[in-house]
Amino acid sequence: MQEKGNLSINSENLFPIIKKWLYSDQDIFIRELVSNAVDAISKLKKLVSMGEAQVAEGENYAVQVTIDAEGKTITISDNGIGMTDEEVRKYINQIAFSGAAEFLEKYKDASEDPIIGHFGLGFYSAFMVAQLVEIHTLSYQEGAAPVLWNSDGTSTYEMTAGTRTARGTDIILHVNEDGEKYLNTYELRSILTKYCSFMPVEIFLSNPAEEAKAEESEAKDPVAVNDVHPLWTKNPKDCTDEEYKEFYHKVFMDYKEPLFWIHLNMDYPFHLQGILYFPKLGNEFESAEGQVKLYCNQVFVADNVKEVIPEFLLLLKGVIDCPDIPLNVSRSFLQNDGYVRKISDYITRKVADKLKSLFTSQREDYEKYWSDIHPFIKYGCLRNDKFLERVNGCIIYKSAVSEKFVTLDEYLEAAKETHENKVFYTTDARQQAQYIQALAGQNMDVVVLDTTIDSPFISQVESKKENVKFFRVDANLSEALKDETFAEDAEQSEKAAKLFQTALNNDKLKVRLESLKDAKVSAMIELSEESRRMQDMMRMYGAMGMGMMPFEADETLVLNAANPIIKKVLATEDAARANTIAVQLYDLARLSSRPLEAGELTAFIERTQNLMCELL
Ligand code: ADP
Ligand code: MG
Repeated sequence: MQEKGNLSINSENLFPIIKKWLYSDQDIFIRELVSNAVDAISKLKKLVSMGEAQVAEGENYAVQVTIDAEGKTITISDNGIGMTDEEVRKYINQIAFSGAAEFLEKYKDASEDPIIGHFGLGFYSAFMVAQLVEIHTLSYQEGAAPVLWNSDGTSTYEMTAGTRTARGTDIILHVNEDGEKYLNTYELRSILTKYCSFMPVEIFLSNPAEEAKAEESEAKDPVAVNDVHPLWTKNPKDCTDEEYKEFYHKVFMDYKEPLFWIHLNMDYPFHLQGILYFPKLGNEFESAEGQVKLYCNQVFVADNVKEVIPEFLLLLKGVIDCPDIPLNVSRSFLQNDGYVRKISDYITRKVADKLKSLFTSQREDYEKYWSDIHPFIKYGCLRNDKFLERVNGCIIYKSAVSEKFVTLDEYLEAAKETHENKVFYTTDARQQAQYIQALAGQNMDVVVLDTTIDSPFISQVESKKENVKFFRVDANLSEALKDETFAEDAEQSEKAAKLFQTALNNDKLKVRLESLKDAKVSAMIELSEESRRMQDMMRMYGAMGMGMMPFEADETLVLNAANPIIKKVLATEDAARANTIAVQLYDLARLSSRPLEAGELTAFIERTQNLMCELL
């Protein structure tokens, strides 16, 4: 038998597409060829289990990947089903004729083990890294003859009688220049680990030349690069906490313990298995970025496929195996696929359910986790209304006063008397301590909302919960802080405003004279909530490099008429002195609301020293 021919279906046009578009990542050839080898073995196992094929007693099924650096070849070899010459013609020569599809069709009712066969043009990815590809194959079928096929990746192939005597297939890649890097054992092992770590048949990697050199050291039993029964394929009932943690450490190389996890296991109306972990966040500088690995029948597909997994869930770490997802189709297709949407709804629901159950039955643990999980939950609420609906009741706020956690409803209930429908919050409990204490002194609670996600989150809560408004502690000095018996004196107010405006050389400065219940406080800066939020937003856009008009904060200097210094400074005849003290009071008020800028701080220190000097 000697046959030459042209690969059908316009392969001249197809190869460049495969090379550039379908597989932008060259490494993927290993996934395709090893998964074909694994498929071939799965198919044989199926036939054996149905009594349609026999194998020698005690034969081990395995895929062997062998590097020959000198000969510049990589061989992927399996003892699977093999191919007859007719099958080679059909499945290899007629590109895009998927043997797997036909096999599945034929055996779908008898099938229990899934067969990897989603990758369509997989075999041809070999030509990304090889200038010549050989197939040596012998079918399991009785009387089948071995076949040798080769092609140099142009559009012609050669088929001759083969010499193979054992059932199965060897794919020999004669690597091209691009492919030479894969002759390195370390390199090849790392991509095998990436793509094939959980494939369902044992895979071995060897480099006989290197091993011969290291011969002196005792011969070790070869170790498979993969785990054929990854944890997610097991029944959740049979998995221990230790196993979940170990799997997490191994797969994500995160030495920290995960907080908790969800084992997904769905059969109907679609198949889906997986484990999602809530990671412990590192220090505050480390961004909260997770990693969700998508698999298809234990074959790694990609990390963080946001078309399948809702974007906010990508903050988690986990593995998801969706055997039914159409792969290697365009991402926009996936986005519009109703089926994919169902998957993502299912995962979202499972995550929300887990949070709810922790909140109701393990509140103490839940509160412990809160600092790690709240950015995720809030982000999820912002991105996904259904998620928001589900977890709404489980959002908690930490009190800056008692350090305890409350829900929004609990807060509002307690606030009814003193500040109905208002929520006071701090973005920096240390910097804003004076304000917090003033409120706490009047039995008013303040919650901590001090992360970047909190400002959009606050706006969302306000938009969903009518009448409720959030105020930063310095936003409006609450009625409850004021002494109601204080009668405003227009003349005195006017005088105070003039004094501070002159001293600070700013005739636009807003000044208000109030009497606060706490006489110890001399002056405070009040920053309108709206204008401050606006300013924060500008700052954020500024950081994103978008030029914006600078925005003046709407601030008011509130002077406490009950405070002795204020009383004295308003009464004194010594104008120079009054000026100095007014500037000093203003700086003190600013200091308890935000850090001073470098120049301001220097002036403040100098002035303080001068005043001290005068006292001695
Ligand atoms: P797919 O795997 O999606 O069917 P491929 O291009 O990867 O597409 O492979 C085409 C077909 O070639 C397979 O379906 C299978 O019938 C056959 N084939 C490829 N590699 C092997 C192998 N190692 N052993 C047996 N058959 C194989
Ligand atoms: Mg394939």
